[in-house]
Amino acid sequence: MSDNNGQARVGVFVCDCGTNIAGKVNVPEVVEFASRLDNVVVAKEYKFMCSDPGQELIKEAIRTHGLSRVVVASCSPLMHEPTFRGAVTEEGMNPFYFQMSNIREHVSWVTKDPEKATKKAKALVSAAVRRVVFHDPLTKKEVPVKPEVLIVGGGIAGIHAALTYANSGKKVYLVEKEASIGGHMSILDKTFPTLDCSACILTPKMSDVGKHPNIELLTWSEVEEVSGYVGAFNVKIKKKARYVDIEKCNGCGDCWSNCPTTITPSERIIRKGDVIIKELVKDN
Ligand SMILES: Cc1cc2nc3c(=O)[nH]c(=O)nc-3n(C[C@H](O)[C@H](O)[C@H](O)COP(=O)(O)OP(=O)(O)OC[C@H]3O[C@@H](n4cnc5c(N)ncnc54)[C@H](O)[C@@H]3O)c2cc1C
Ligand code: SF4
Ligand code: SF4
Repeated sequence: MSDNNGQARVGVFVCDCGTNIAGKVNVPEVVEFASRLDNVVVAKEYKFMCSDPGQELIKEAIRTHGLSRVVVASCSPLMHEPTFRGAVTEEGMNPFYFQMSNIREHVSWVTKDPEKATKKAKALVSAAVRRVVFHDPLTKKEVPVKPEVLIVGGGIAGIHAALTYANSGKKVYLVEKEASIGGHMSILDKTFPTLDCSACILTPKMSDVGKHPNIELLTWSEVEEVSGYVGAFNVKIKKKARYVDIEKCNGCGDCWSNCPTTITPSERIIRKGDVIIKELVKDN
């Protein structure tokens, strides 16, 4: 289906959804309004547009009126966009020449006043018609995806997410801006409401992250730049200077205990065993 001398031929189909839409929106009025819009060559109402007869109505109109674009005003695209894209494709139309307008969830279900609902439905149909005229025919293609995960922030949420992904076999990069993962949970003694020991929950997970073969832990680091697209992102991460060779550091803590600087006025970092913990400093 192609446009006629560059002019898109649009068909508009407005669904009653039983009384879901027609009980609030004056559908015949919307159809009449749509039929007068630029590029619209046919506008129709039907009680259940997603049903087989409803889809057949659209297909028959494509054949009879030589439609090059289709607008359906009905429910959420989440629900039936694939249904209608399938229907137009069966008539040889590119599925992206179809546009859905949601006059149920966005109008009839959420608008009390029938007059206002009808007015809003007309506005949405008009917008869909104007939009579909500018659509390009798209084709779907498959591209390879690198199944790796970047998690920013090594609090309990980031730690748990990292372990979940890593255990499912994905390579995980966990970026933490502080010197250690753990986040706020690492400064708590007991957690409300169960009064469980916070460190008892957190530290085994921190340790699991540290030794998991699928997790690359980047502490004292921050994301500087993200480019690319879904499945092929490029991320630039800045590793801040530590002034120690972390391969050789055994975490003895001698350098910290002699260091005159505290990290923040409200927190200090202490070490329990080989785990680094932030602790709240109380005012005297
Ligand atoms: C005083 C206090 C008491 C609490 N008591 C309880 C309780 O009793 N029970 C309970 O269930 N919850 C409690 N909470 C809440 C609980 O601690 C938090 O909901 C939980 O720790 C949040 O975890 P998180 O991983 O989402 O975030 P956080 O623990 O805040 O971790 C975020 C991590 O991301 C890092 N980060 C931030 N920005 C960046 C960046 N740009 N790049 C890289 N890394 C970054 C941070 O350094 C940090 O490590 C309490 C919180 C506080 C502050
Ligand atoms: S297309 Fe959507 S709005 Fe219309 S009948 Fe089907 S579910 Fe209801
Ligand atoms: S003094 Fe201890 S904690 Fe500090 S860098 Fe050396 S080995 Fe690491």
